[in-house]
This record gives sequence, structure tokens and C-alpha cells, in this order.
Amino acid sequence: MTRKTALLILAIIVVVILLPAAAVSFGGCPGFPPPAKAEPPPSTKETVEKKFSGTVRLYRTDRKEIVPLDLEQYLVGVILAEMPASFELEALKAQAVIARTYALHQHPFSGGGGCDRAPGGADICSDSAHCQAWLDPEETAAEWGPEGELFLKRIRQAISETAGEVAVYRGKLIEAVYHSTCGGKTEASHALWNGGSLPYLQSVICPYCTHSPHYRGELLIPFTRLAEALPQDPALPVASAERLPLEKITETSGGRIAALTIAGRSIGGAELRSLLELPSTAFTWELREEGLLFHTRGRGHGVGLCQYGADGAAREGQGYRQIIQFYYPGTAITEIKP
Ligand SMILES: [Zn+2]
Ligand SMILES: [Zn+2]
Repeated sequence: MTRKTALLILAIIVVVILLPAAAVSFGGCPGFPPPAKAEPPPSTKETVEKKFSGTVRLYRTDRKEIVPLDLEQYLVGVILAEMPASFELEALKAQAVIARTYALHQHPFSGGGGCDRAPGGADICSDSAHCQAWLDPEETAAEWGPEGELFLKRIRQAISETAGEVAVYRGKLIEAVYHSTCGGKTEASHALWNGGSLPYLQSVICPYCTHSPHYRGELLIPFTRLAEALPQDPALPVASAERLPLEKITETSGGRIAALTIAGRSIGGAELRSLLELPSTAFTWELREEGLLFHTRGRGHGVGLCQYGADGAAREGQGYRQIIQFYYPGTAITEIKP
């Protein structure tokens, strides 16, 4: 296929796209791996002084049942699901504090809305695309064999060494979002949540996640796959094919694609990420004979704690408090007791 033919085919494919009105799904599993999750806009929550019963009503989406769990027990399954247990202990401890904060922030006791996945409602569910991922510790450890037991031990240590600790900003539980790998720079919350600027969720330069397998990536998306993935509107006119029809319009403060145009039509970076299943909205592209080659940076929405970054910082000798304060500037760690 000649370059001109390829361009023409591409133009035809891309011209017929777009659902500008489709909901932008924020790639916001708090954790790992991070698929899309519709995150509510950040809001002011109650202070942490209220009494907490110590119990979390977890909706197990695998069994479709609600199980009451002690918060600290619940966290074992979260960390197991959300962070590689081989990570440095201080990274696991940072994850424990952040996952605890996330769960309590959403818990009705602190004014959180709970989880609406369960019929009748629960405090939180085990679906990574909705709340925090969670795996049954015993079942998982049994599947993993001797290594599983070792991992559980490390996770329990991280939880007990940070028992009851949460991250707060001016006395209030923070929106403790997290992601796998920022790729060098985290994202500010307002880039993802309209109007949701939070002082502790700003873009920070992260030099610690270069060892992540997701630090940089390349993804070739063939024209046929593009045609399948992108919504098509046959009524749209065919554009001229003489130039690459993708064009960046705006960038976020974290250096990600906020919006771009495809054959003159605008589309949000998060929407394109979701449609093409790109690992993050930090990407560039180039035209190849067979399709579009995307160069990607990081994995996940990029806001808050960079998990591989936490591991990298811990490798350099940083403690979990330092790690949390790096990714959530201006926050403090306090203890909450049932
Ligand atoms: Zn949920
Ligand atoms: Zn990072």
C-alpha cells in the first residue's frame, strides 16, 4: 500500500467517528491495573474525628454478596489485588495508608456515598473499575502456593505497621486516588475531574518509576482495529487525506492529552484512551503503513500516588510517610481508631 493510499484509508476511517457526547470515563481505578472508572467529583468530606465502627461492608462482585469485614482485614485483600506484593515494604505501607484512606473516605461514617453496585448498597465493592480491587486472601494465597503465603505475610506487616493510619488534608480524609505508573509526571486532579482542583492532587515530577514495565510503551493500532474501535457516523463527510488527521488541541498540566481532533472533530484524550484501550492519556502518535503507532507514557490516570514510583522511592530509602507527602503534597498522616 502506498503512503497516499494509506492516508486516504485512514482519513476515511477517522472521518466517520466520534461520539463527542459520550461520557468521558476517567481511567481511575485507584490502583493496579487501572481500567476506566467513573470517579465522583472530589468533595469536602467530614473530618476524621467521627466514630468509625471498624467494619467495612464489602460487596464481593465475584459472589454477588455483601460481607462485613474488619477494615484492617479488608485491606489485606485490597493490597493483594492492587499492588505487587514483591514491592518494597515502605511502598506497601504507603499503599496500606492510601487504600485505608480511600475506603474510609467513601465510607458513610465520614460522609461518603458508599458503593451503589450492590443491591441495597454497600460501603465498597471489589471491582477495580468501580471502587478498589479486592481478592480473597486465603483463596489467592492458596492459588499462589508458598509464594502466596510469603506475600500475605509482607502485606500483613505493612498493614499492622501502619495500623489505623490515614492521610488527611487540613484534618479531612483525602481523595486517595492512585495509579500504576505516571511515567515521569503525575497529573493534577482538575485535569480529570471538571472543577475538581484539590491542593494535594497537583502534578509532580516523579523520578522514581523508570523501572516500571509501563514507563514507556508502543502500541500499533491497525486501521482495521481503529475502524472497529472508533464510533462511526456514516453521515460525516470524507476529509482530505493529505495530512495526519489527528491533531493535539490541548494538554493537561501533567503533560497528557486533554483533547485532540480527528479529521477536524474534537475528542477528549480520556475518551480516545478508553476507545483504543491505551494505557494512559500520555501519548503521541505517528502514521505507519499498517496503522497508527502510539507512543505511551505510564499506565493509569496519573493522579495521586504513582505505585511504581512509591516502590522506586522506597528503593532509594524513603519511608512511607515521605512517599505519601511527595505524591499528595501538604497532607499529614493521622491515626483513626474504631
Ligand atoms: Zn463500588
Ligand atoms: Zn511515577
